[in-house]
Amino acid sequence: MNERIVILGGGESGIGAAMLAQQKGYDVFLSDGGGIAPDRRRSLKSQDIQFEENGHSEELITNASLVVKSPGIPDSVPLIQTLLHKEILVISEVEFAYRFIDKAKVVAITGTNGKTTTSLLTYHLLKTAGYKVALGGNIGKSLAGLVAEGGYHYYVVEVSSFQLDGITNFRPDVAVLLNITPDHLDRYEYNFNRYVTSKFRIIENLTNEQAFIYCADSEPVTEEINKRKVEASMFAMTASNNNKLNAYLKDEHLIFNYQFKEDFKKYQIPLSEISLIGKHNMVNSMAAVLSALCMEVPIEKVLKGLKNFKNAPHRLEFVKEINGVAYINDSKATNVDSVYYALDGVKGNIIWIAGGIDKGNDYGQIEKLVKKKVKALICMGKDNHALTEYFDSKLDKIIEVDSAKKAIQQAYQLAEEGDVVLLSPACASFDLFSNYEDRGDKFKREVTKLSKKLKAKEV
Ligand code: ADP
Repeated sequence: MNERIVILGGGESGIGAAMLAQQKGYDVFLSDGGGIAPDRRRSLKSQDIQFEENGHSEELITNASLVVKSPGIPDSVPLIQTLLHKEILVISEVEFAYRFIDKAKVVAITGTNGKTTTSLLTYHLLKTAGYKVALGGNIGKSLAGLVAEGGYHYYVVEVSSFQLDGITNFRPDVAVLLNITPDHLDRYEYNFNRYVTSKFRIIENLTNEQAFIYCADSEPVTEEINKRKVEASMFAMTASNNNKLNAYLKDEHLIFNYQFKEDFKKYQIPLSEISLIGKHNMVNSMAAVLSALCMEVPIEKVLKGLKNFKNAPHRLEFVKEINGVAYINDSKATNVDSVYYALDGVKGNIIWIAGGIDKGNDYGQIEKLVKKKVKALICMGKDNHALTEYFDSKLDKIIEVDSAKKAIQQAYQLAEEGDVVLLSPACASFDLFSNYEDRGDKFKREVTKLSKKLKAKEV
């Protein structure tokens, strides 16, 4: 009899785990408490994988020797408690997939913010260098699905704390921890330390054969590192040079003091060679470059990749230049922290488009930057009073609009050559748009329309 494995959850990670388990000869059963999407149901049927949906049959689950649970299911639900009580091993899909990675190397990236950007960039650097690279985990495809495909030299895996909660042996060749700020605390009994511990599980199996890259400017990260004895080669990314193995930002350059195994090198990369903008993205770039160096990618290839990288949309995304004015879409910036990085990173005077659903923002954090760099604020929301009240006495020009079209019309009137029109809302989008992507897409569409209209006039 084959070993029985039960997969809980029929989403991306559950289907990936089921496919991999089937390929590896397990007796597989998938159970989802809700409905399973038709295409996923079809995939299961095509592989003859047994499954149920809209409820869990305990008797079909508790006879498993191994359970893989979707990251969305907390340990506190009764079914998981029953399994744990019966001493049935419950692991995450990333852990399960990892067990079948043979020769390929794994770069795992976690952190509260910047995971997607750093994962995409690391993937891009390795791919540009000519390797067969898979990108997955919390972004796009599941790691298990990618392992089932096979044939890769590298796996770049974005990992959430939920996936890390279910690991036992997971040992990435390079572990990246970008930062930790309070988030998802509902899953950790509102205990920040538990969330920190969960994030640090990314290094729990590391030895001095692996590398650990972390941001030394994130206090919760350094505090925890000081408490622990970490065996891996450690790379600190920091704002100042502390003479360790590190990377830092100085005089418009990223500096790398790099040694992994026997190989010591120092590199200086001008910021002009990097396509991303903003301090936060410099941390992300350092992490990706260090990861690539640890994977022994030659620096020339890293440089090529850094220069031509294009980030996921809506994250400080350059849209177009019209009459010497750059239009930038940062619709993903739904909090003040993100706007800080945007205002700080953008060069030139800014026509700032902000607003939407204000979740109790404290604009004090960006007041100085706004006064220094913003020449006009265009509030794009149904109710703009929080923004207008805060900045009323601090800015010469504040305009209210209720659509992306009107925002662009106003911005075009106000902007002079060398200025930047920046959509970086600090707010959720649901008052006027269906989500932040819709808001960013409409902004881009209006910019493109404006550009076409002006070009048509020229002819
Ligand atoms: P995640 O996948 O972790 O949500 P993203 O790469 O999608 O991260 O970035 C989301 C937002 O987080 C960005 O728009 C930016 O404002 C902010 N951000 C990105 N990188 C960092 C970083 N290293 N430190 C702090 N904030 C960041």
